Amino acid sequence: MSNKFYVTTPIYYVNASPHIGHSYTNIAADTLARYNRNLLGKDNVWFLTGTDEHGQKIKKAADEAELSPIEFVDKVVPQFEDLWNKLEISNNDFIRTTQERHIKCVQKALQIVYEKGDIYEGKYEGWYCTPCETFWPKTQITDNLCPECKRPLENISETNFFFKLSKYQDWLIKYIKDTDKNIERLNYIQPASRRNEVLSFLENNKLDDLCISRPIERLSWGIPLPFSPKHVT
Ligand SMILES: [Zn+2]
Repeated sequence: MSNKFYVTTPIYYVNASPHIGHSYTNIAADTLARYNRNLLGKDNVWFLTGTDEHGQKIKKAADEAELSPIEFVDKVVPQFEDLWNKLEISNNDFIRTTQERHIKCVQKALQIVYEKGDIYEGKYEGWYCTPCETFWPKTQITDNLCPECKRPLENISETNFFFKLSKYQDWLIKYIKDTDKNIERLNYIQPASRRNEVLSFLENNKLDDLCISRPIERLSWGIPLPFSPKHVT
């Protein structure tokens, strides 16, 4: 077994104030971190939490509050930090997706994947509700109406960037199944019931490539793609 332990919570979406569900998750992660610090020593444990501050819903919440997106998140994020202090959560770091260190890291990682040829430009087509600023999958709509506001949807097509997720489907199945050669991977996904669920999904469905961008004219509140200034992620 490795003598290092890393635990992260989801990075919380800050379109609204924290609630009991956020606390539940951080208390669970805190328990794991404290247990492992006792077991492995505090220098061998890293516990991360943070906030996801980009995207359409943040932009919308900021518009409703008549603030810029950064002003809006700067008001909400301290509520999360205060809560973790009150609950004595022992996280080693707190990362915000608007921090320069995060933006640089995302751009660097995407550039590497792009240069490897695993990101390509393509057409994204779908049913779009302009007032709700949301794309809806065909399975969720009836009579071409928005499931949320019941207004007519538009079939729009735009240029976006995609990650070649489908290319890695077989590799991923093999990676999860291949437990003999590397004992560490036995516990790659826990518990076993979830591991089987993931495997069964991968073996019975075809993964689509993943759309990783939005055109800047439709959503400006994101991280600019290093290889296309007209798109954000
Ligand atoms: Zn709508």
